[in-house]
Amino acid sequence: MLFENIKENFPILEQKINGKNLVYLDSAATTQKPNEVIDSLNNYYKNNNSNIHRGIHTLSQRATEDYENTREIIANFIGATSSKEIIFVRGATEAINLIANSYVKPLLNENDEIIISQMEHHANIVPWQMVCEEKKAKLKIIPIDNNGELILKEFNNKINERTKFISINHVSNSLGTINPIKEIIQIAHQNNIKIMIDGAQAIQHLEIDMKEINADFYCFSGHKMYAPTGIGVLYGKMDLLELMPPYQGGGDMIKSVTFEKTIYNDIPNKFEAGTPNISGAIALGKAIEYISQIGINNINKHETDLLNYATSKLKQIDKVRIIGEAKKKAAVISFIIEGIHPHDIGTIMDSYGIAIRAGHHCTQPVMDFYDIPATARASFAIYNTKKDVDELIKAIEKCIEVFA
Ligand code: PMP
Repeated sequence: MLFENIKENFPILEQKINGKNLVYLDSAATTQKPNEVIDSLNNYYKNNNSNIHRGIHTLSQRATEDYENTREIIANFIGATSSKEIIFVRGATEAINLIANSYVKPLLNENDEIIISQMEHHANIVPWQMVCEEKKAKLKIIPIDNNGELILKEFNNKINERTKFISINHVSNSLGTINPIKEIIQIAHQNNIKIMIDGAQAIQHLEIDMKEINADFYCFSGHKMYAPTGIGVLYGKMDLLELMPPYQGGGDMIKSVTFEKTIYNDIPNKFEAGTPNISGAIALGKAIEYISQIGINNINKHETDLLNYATSKLKQIDKVRIIGEAKKKAAVISFIIEGIHPHDIGTIMDSYGIAIRAGHHCTQPVMDFYDIPATARASFAIYNTKKDVDELIKAIEKCIEVFA
């Protein structure tokens, strides 16, 4: 069984919390890291630590080679045309801010419009509000229905000659909804509008191929796919990246500097000012190799089984209501329990060694839509098992008893 012993590969999961075996069900917030990733960080600092691109010495060459090799690994993993289309960033948040400022802001005039959706993470709302405010443009929102699916008819209605950009998540972090991004991208392109997809909750669960989906920009965070924090990826089509101005100025993003004129570097370096997260990027490469060895489709099947199992168990509990019942969901399950605040649910779960998330999950407009302050959220990854789900269900039942 491919997934039976995977937990052993994640040392953090061996511990007890409050005297109970840790059951980690908060992978949508951040995943735990396998030995391969931890060893990569260790190896880098023990043997290869050096700054990249500028050094002639052996350590710098090794670090540069491993860093650039990771760009190739990522390009292959997501089906990019070239590794030049892979920009290292801190995470999805930085990628969206980069596109908002470097690609979209220069296009915007007063009363122009940007379309996002009601189920976006704050990271895919606030940067657009900021550029809209600066350029006196408007943000248009595709609404969701009660199941937590986008109302696509409304998407079509929102597009007009003033629409300058669209940015939509691939998978919702609070509802689990998998959006039909291929169709959404097609609609955008039929209207000659460029589109960004926030893949922060998709890349760790779904097979994704840039040539197939044809997104103009796509982004994700390493820490949600078994890699360290502080490293992420912005994918952009080469012709668009080449035309875009840099996001930040500094070392490494230039070809030459004089006080009269600076000539910017080519892509991808043009967007990577300053010393990057070298060890994090290399470890991201190891995380992707780890995922690829197991197989993203195997991972998807494993997590979908867990999601279906958890959903059917939760539905058997009277006081539980699942928030987000889209037909296609990734391994995220938000729920509320009648009469118990989600924060109390989270605290009680922790006393049983179960880590879930409770709050608005940086999606306050989703909470407003359902007229609730927060949800409890369990999310699954490769290291979770049906036994973890059973522990969760047992703890929820106890929680209801305590508050009854
Ligand atoms: N978009 C989505 C859908 C997310 O779930 C998250 C993280 N919760 C982000 C963007 C932001 O990612 P990060 O904080 O890693 O930049």
